[in-house]
Order: sequence, then C-alpha cells, then structure tokens
Amino acid sequence: MNPSDYNQNLVDFIQASPTPFHAVQNMADLLCSHGFTPLAENRPWQLSPGEGYFLRRADSALLAWIIGDDEELTSGFRLLAAHTDSPCLKLKPRPESKTGNCRQLAVEVYGGPLLNPWFDRDLSLAGRVCGESNNGQLVVRLVDFARPLLTIPSIAIHFDREANSGRSINQQQHLPPLFGLSGNDHPDAFASLLLNQARLEHPDVGFQEILSFDLFCADSQPPAVVGAEGEFLAAARLDNLLSCHAGIQAMVGADRGRNSLLFCANHEENGSRSSSGAHGSFLDAALERIIPNPESRQICLRNSFLISMDNAHASHPNHPDKMDAGHPIRLNHGPVIKYNANQRYATSGLSAAIFKRVCRQAAVEVQEFVMRSDILCGSTIGPITAARLGVETIDIGAATLAMHSIRELTGSSDPLFLYRAIRQFLASDDHICSDE
Ligand code: ZN
Repeated sequence: MNPSDYNQNLVDFIQASPTPFHAVQNMADLLCSHGFTPLAENRPWQLSPGEGYFLRRADSALLAWIIGDDEELTSGFRLLAAHTDSPCLKLKPRPESKTGNCRQLAVEVYGGPLLNPWFDRDLSLAGRVCGESNNGQLVVRLVDFARPLLTIPSIAIHFDREANSGRSINQQQHLPPLFGLSGNDHPDAFASLLLNQARLEHPDVGFQEILSFDLFCADSQPPAVVGAEGEFLAAARLDNLLSCHAGIQAMVGADRGRNSLLFCANHEENGSRSSSGAHGSFLDAALERIIPNPESRQICLRNSFLISMDNAHASHPNHPDKMDAGHPIRLNHGPVIKYNANQRYATSGLSAAIFKRVCRQAAVEVQEFVMRSDILCGSTIGPITAARLGVETIDIGAATLAMHSIRELTGSSDPLFLYRAIRQFLASDDHICSDE
C-alpha cells in the first residue's frame, strides 16, 4: 500500500466520523465486514479460538479481539489502544437562544481545544439523538448533518485592537454559534431542524419526538493533502482518529492464529473517568470474561504488551524553543516514542526496546520525544491502562503539529508508518521480553 491510498482510506474514515459515536459505528461496520462477531455485554458469550469478536460500550468505546488458534491465551495479548474523542464544542441540553434576529446554540467546551481556530469556520453538527418512535419505543440513533450549518464569527479587529496580541475568549459569551436568522415565526427552530434530520436519516424509525441528545460541532471542511509535494495531511480529529484507524486496519488484517486486542476508549480528552473511558471497567470486564480463570488471566496479562497510540508533538519550525533540543521530532520520520520520568507516559526502557525492534522489523524509522524539563507534560491512556492491568506498555504516536486545533497537521507518510509498525507488532512474537 502507498501513502496516498492509505491516506484516502484514513480521510474517508475521519470524514465519516465527526463524533466518537460515528467512529465506533464505522469501526464496527468494518469489523463485521471482516468476519468479526459482535457481542453484547448484557448477553452470554461463546468464544472460540481462531475467531474475532468485538464489543461496544456507550456507543462510543470499542473493543475488538482475536483469540489465536496457534497459541494459548496465557501466552498473552498483543494489545493496541487509542481514543475515539477529540476536543470540540458540545451542545447544551437546551441550546436555542436568540439575540436580535440571530438564532444561536449554546455550547460547552469539551476537552482542551485551541479555541481560536473554531472562529470563522463552516461548522457541521453530529452526534446521537434519543427519542420516541411512532410505536412508543425509546430509540437511539446517530445523526450527522454533514454540511455547513453553524458559524462562530470573530469580532472585527476594529472592535478589538488587541486581537492579534492578547485575545481572550469568554467561553460562555463568545462561543455560541449562529445557526440562522429569524422573525417571530420559529420559536423551536432547532428542535424541528433536529427532528427533521433524524427522520431524514432514519425513515424506518418514525421519530415522533427527540427527548435528548449528545451533539457536537465539527468542521465541515474535508481533509486535504498540503505542501509543494504533498508532504502534509491536514484534517480535523487526527488526534486520535489517525490511531483508531491504524488500529482497526491492523486488526482486520491480523493473523487469526495470534492473540490480539484493540481498545478504543472515549473521554481521553477530559481525563478518561467514565464508563467508556480508560479509567472505566470496560476493558477489565471484558478480559474477565475472555479469560475467566483469575490465575490464567494474570499469566496472560504478564505475558502481554500494550502499544498505546496517541499523537505526538512534532517540532514546530516557528517555535523551536518549545522542544527539547536533543529530541527533535520531524514529520514523515515515523512513529514517536513518548517518554516521561513521572509516568505521564508509560514508556519504560524495556517497552521502548521492544517497540524499536518491532519498527526495525517493519523497516520503519522511529523517533523519541521527551518534554522540555521546564514545561508540563501532557498524558494519555497508556499510564492509566498500564496501572489497571499491570501490563508492560509503551506510549507512541504519529508526529503532529497544531494538536487540539480544529484542523491538525501530520506528515503525509506518518499514518502509513504507524500502521506498518503496529501491523508488524501484531504479526510478531516480540511482544514480551523472553530474557527470564
Ligand atoms: Zn490524543
């Protein structure tokens, strides 16, 4: 596969996945089409070697795994993890308001986005609606307007002469997007817009009423390859759909003889503490059912290895002083191992060595990131999952600029490099240190 074919598949996934709900739905569809069996947590399971299975929780987290028929479960899992959510704006439960003749929607900030890039963009709206069908059933369905529907206009520089040096954004006052203009004739314009969208996308349901929703604003601009020779890939939600996509592609192509598992968690961007987040019970509860015997499960986990994938900071050419000079990170130079002495990343000397060997086998370059010692370090789901499971873990990711912007930037070869590394990992026996 070449980078442009791989990137086309990635951008199709990103475009079709404006929210974690959509990302999980798209991953589930792909797993089904590759013969993975869907399971439900509220039903009994029958598991067989040589088969693939998957599970969703809260419509926004996903587990997919293969029980290899060439090895025992106690020989461990090759584990991959990523997160489905991205920083964004979420609609408040009663969002509609009117100022003058401008109809607006109230929003909350989800996670830690760079807010400035959200202004003056053509925003769409997507998520999950919960309503009543024409036969009185409670139904939950996804919706995606997939068109420019909302906009947050900047205040003109004539009213804010400091805009280019010290702009501050009041999240309550400055962020509500416009979604139309009104006379006195549209008291519930948004409610009827949403009901119509649900009916349009799900004509079989016969939606009578929307009772509640989880709706998020999303950029409507499609991803693009940028640069004199197409060196960059610009898109929304590269953090962390790039990793979810690599993980799911590696899983559907993985050898059914080997034990492998992919965990795509929600709510990483606000601390992972939810039923669908990495701090929740989703992964532990599934592992208890995959390997019911406690001793066998512990042996399996001690023989497992986790690659936690989340994007890494590339060196910014306009801000070279922000990076540790000894650890530059370059676009299109392969996956980045992330280190932190205080366990903001779970990487150890051992896990780094294992991953470097995997990358060498895959003929993929590898880079090493550590934060400047005078700047606080971010974190991800690697340390959380390592702590819960006690599994040897590495934190890695594709090099990225403009992380948490509405439009992030990676190298156009970096998604494929990441995929090649983890595909090699799933095919490798190097997932544990055999030097006992
Ligand atoms: Zn992330």
